[in-house]
Amino acid sequence: MTDALVLGAGMAGVSAALMLQKRGWSVALIDRQAPGRATSFGNAGIIQSEAVEPFAMPRDLRSLWNIILGNTNDVHWRLRHLGPHVAPLLSYWWHSGGSRYRRAVEVHSALVARAAEAHAPLIAAAGAESLVRREGFRVLHRTERGMDQEVAVAERFHADYGVPHRVLSAEALARAEPGLKFTGVGAMHWLNSWTISDPGTLTTAYAQLFAKRGGTIEIGDAETLISDPSSGWMVATVNGLLRAEHVIVALGPWSGQFLTRFGFRIPMVRKRGYHLHYSGQPLDLPLLDADFGYVMAPMTRGLRITTGAELTGPDAKATPWQLERAEIAARHLVTLGAPVENSPWFGTRPCMPDMLPVIGRVAGLKGMWTHFGHGHQGFTLGPATGEILAQLMTDRATAMDVSHLSPNRFHRCDVTTACVRSSNRTRRQDAMAALP
Ligand SMILES: Cc1cc2nc3c(=O)[nH]c(=O)nc-3n(C[C@H](O)[C@H](O)[C@H](O)COP(=O)(O)OP(=O)(O)OC[C@H]3O[C@@H](n4cnc5c(N)ncnc54)[C@H](O)[C@@H]3O)c2cc1C
Repeated sequence: MTDALVLGAGMAGVSAALMLQKRGWSVALIDRQAPGRATSFGNAGIIQSEAVEPFAMPRDLRSLWNIILGNTNDVHWRLRHLGPHVAPLLSYWWHSGGSRYRRAVEVHSALVARAAEAHAPLIAAAGAESLVRREGFRVLHRTERGMDQEVAVAERFHADYGVPHRVLSAEALARAEPGLKFTGVGAMHWLNSWTISDPGTLTTAYAQLFAKRGGTIEIGDAETLISDPSSGWMVATVNGLLRAEHVIVALGPWSGQFLTRFGFRIPMVRKRGYHLHYSGQPLDLPLLDADFGYVMAPMTRGLRITTGAELTGPDAKATPWQLERAEIAARHLVTLGAPVENSPWFGTRPCMPDMLPVIGRVAGLKGMWTHFGHGHQGFTLGPATGEILAQLMTDRATAMDVSHLSPNRFHRCDVTTACVRSSNRTRRQDAMAALP
């Protein structure tokens, strides 16, 4: 019998599956589509060893005011979809300061320190070296003030965490990126991050490695999951039922909604981002345009522009306003060329208000574990946190204190209440009915 079912085959799910498999577990990976086709497909592809401090919500009035007035391209919000965001945003604001933020930094930096070394053996074993560059990425600034602020952060990161960087003048940036038409006041080159030319393909390569090592990958809907008296858990796939003693929820931005069935109220800040590829002259390394909040990354399918955070509804139609502004700003920097696709891709960063992923055993639900909520750095952190989850599941000592990552830090209500019961029944029935 299978030892564990992993629900969700993004970077988080595939990584957890590989780490358990490494410990001799028999694992099945279940997704409603092929591995690596959701958020892990469309991101900026940076394994961010420089991102040692989690992405906090600005707390100074000037930044907040700019967000409220829509003066920044980093964040875009839509009034009619803002309602469900309010409580998670207030909690995010609360956790972005004082001792709460210091604790998040302590845990997050310990995770990021493990990220690249956790990817390295997987990249090698998956034969994916050709997708990876280990030369960092750059952040272009258009104002002295912005550059000075980033230099101060870089010097602190170097002193506190050993993160290497190089400050580039406008002339040095022009030499490094001859395709740039405008180099602002220069750039910060973060040196120890890795950049991936196709993040979806890297996730798929990891999934193929998992299959090659004997893992099972099945198409199925996580909503069909039920507890099974004989085995523990059971899920329906297009090829029949799968049973296992353990189940891991790795559904990325869909994890919170999924867990409402089990009485959880997960306050996720869902930050949507868009991407589109362009046919123009490629850059050498990815470039973040700090003043317009987007990344331009040379990728297999062209120059990929990825945007900042849009606060909208999970099923709201695409409103790529930030992408349009990013495109105008990017045309000022490079010969961008024509869009490669007719419409942009979008996906959602699964951000927790306390900025920490949700990893561990679910109290009161025997054999259920979680591995989601990696926010802005899920592509970076998947293998490192997958390793920690596998250590927890196999009762080994974890490499670090993981008490702050537990899923049991969230409020849980009585699953027998009428509304939860009826929503569970409907979602399960719909999921079962959709199977062939
Ligand atoms: C624009 C953008 C840029 C980003 N850039 C970076 C970056 O440079 N570096 C970085 O580290 N991170 C980046 N991120 C964040 C990163 O992409 C995410 O944190 C990460 O991909 C999350 O991985 P995941 O496996 O948790 O979720 P996903 O990749 O979304 O995987 C979840 C899986 O669950 C499946 N699923 C959902 N519901 C069901 C169901 N009912 N039944 C079966 N399967 C289901 C989905 O199909 C999906 O495959 C970026 C994100 C965005 C949006």
